[in-house]
Amino acid sequence: MKELVLKYALQNAVKFNGKADPGALIGKVLGENPELKNKLNEIKKEIMSIVEEVNSMKPEEQLKKLQKLAPELLEEKKVEKKELKELPGAEIGKIVTRMPPEPSKYLHLGHALTFLINYMYAEKYQGKCVLRFEDCNPEKVTQEFIDADLDDIQNYLGIKPSSIVYVSDHMDKFYEYAEQLITEGKAYMCFCDREKMQDLRHKGKECDCRKKTPKINKQEWENMLKKKYQEGECTLRLKIDMKATNQVLRDPVIFRINYAKHYKYGNKYHVWPLYDFYNAIEEHLCGVNYVLRSNEFGTMRTELQNHIRELFGMKNPKEKQYGRFNINDKTTQGREVRELIEKGEVNGWDDPRLVTLKALKRRGIEREVYYELIKEVGLTPTQTNLDFTVVAAINRRILDKKSNRYFVLVNTEKIKVDNAPKRKVKLPLHPEDEKRGYRTMDTESEFYITKEDLKELKTENKLHRLMDCMNLEYKNDKFVYHSQDHDTYKNSKNKGKIINYLPVSKDLVKCTIMMDDATVVEAIAEPDTKNVKVDDKIQAERFAFLRLDSITKGKYNFWFTHK
Ligand SMILES: [Zn+2]
Repeated sequence: MKELVLKYALQNAVKFNGKADPGALIGKVLGENPELKNKLNEIKKEIMSIVEEVNSMKPEEQLKKLQKLAPELLEEKKVEKKELKELPGAEIGKIVTRMPPEPSKYLHLGHALTFLINYMYAEKYQGKCVLRFEDCNPEKVTQEFIDADLDDIQNYLGIKPSSIVYVSDHMDKFYEYAEQLITEGKAYMCFCDREKMQDLRHKGKECDCRKKTPKINKQEWENMLKKKYQEGECTLRLKIDMKATNQVLRDPVIFRINYAKHYKYGNKYHVWPLYDFYNAIEEHLCGVNYVLRSNEFGTMRTELQNHIRELFGMKNPKEKQYGRFNINDKTTQGREVRELIEKGEVNGWDDPRLVTLKALKRRGIEREVYYELIKEVGLTPTQTNLDFTVVAAINRRILDKKSNRYFVLVNTEKIKVDNAPKRKVKLPLHPEDEKRGYRTMDTESEFYITKEDLKELKTENKLHRLMDCMNLEYKNDKFVYHSQDHDTYKNSKNKGKIINYLPVSKDLVKCTIMMDDATVVEAIAEPDTKNVKVDDKIQAERFAFLRLDSITKGKYNFWFTHK
């Protein structure tokens, strides 16, 4: 692993003036050896220590070492296009998959991947993928979440579902199925309380409710629909086998009472089906014939769902389980995030510290990242550990090609360069794509530079360079103009640093940046930044990628994407 990290650290250092950026390495390392994903923390430590070592070397030394260790990296390698693996038994034009969000929370990275696996396989085999809102919990489900999910899925992820289904629209059907089961003696009304039921299920013992005739059960079911019972007073249970080895099959509850108002149907219904019941039937109603789900779901519940479908003579879909996506470091549970918001510990569902799709979108994560991730991890049977660094590594590669460059500076100080000539600086919007055009700046003798750069600039006997503008020295507490061209700097024996700057000018663009820790910092940017449009992503040179979130009163408000 050391050698792997070392070669990329050297490559990065050689490319960027002798200083490797640890943030840029993780993606390369994982790209070459994806199995290391499960050792993220170790890798990060290794990277930090190797970068330190590399950055302390002289540039010639770095180049020499890289030539010896991995000469091929001196030329950028073309990335191979990855494709989805084949799905066993999937037929062209026939496959129907589904994306089943419960609209009770905002979607996060894990949901995006789960939906995309189903969507991308349907696309691969020219089939269909149904978007199905599982909205049968009146206490949790809201229209706000449905709207947000639709926005994330369609507008952000770019998914085009073949149809959109709301499970609560099928309530009358669920009641018909329930009544069929009661009549056939395959379901019964149970009046045991929760603890008693759990205890008996655990022990494999039947309760007396199980012995009632279909006629009595039917009467009680009707009473339940007529609001004659309280919440928690009774449930409808499937009569399967109280001694089943698979405990999920020990007469599970399929309907319960909940008097909460439903976002769509108000108080029309108060007897609601439970997950396995409606989920099993919905696969049939939606014509789903292939289910791709994470192996957290397990086989015991699949067995129950298959059993439910068999009761009605419905065909079971094929199922393929894959290793779960484990999102490191970040709170992803809807309930936990809601608590953080209520306590005021995060700003909202799109707080930049979260990995909700709302947050990732505002930070400037491109939709292609999710598609690439699926192509990479696909149906791996083992758990995939993901965190923001993995997402950032792919995103960086995409944005590096796409985004225009600008100078944006934070925490600046003004300097004066004696004898500096007036200059019209012309910089490409993208260093590898001159067709995109240029940005220009008129400079005189006063500049803004960052406080960090100022420290380095104040080293005597070194020739520093203001990027594409001029070379300067620091002498007797003053900055003095030296020369203009890059070669003079390049061939200097006492080469200092190339730095970013802004001319002191009234045309500078005032900015704010929402950082990844949710602090907001003030910044200034070059005049041409005014051409950036809301939702554009830019690369603030030698600082970070940024997404323009809004423009308010002439101020450009960016969000920090990543380094
Ligand atoms: Zn009972």
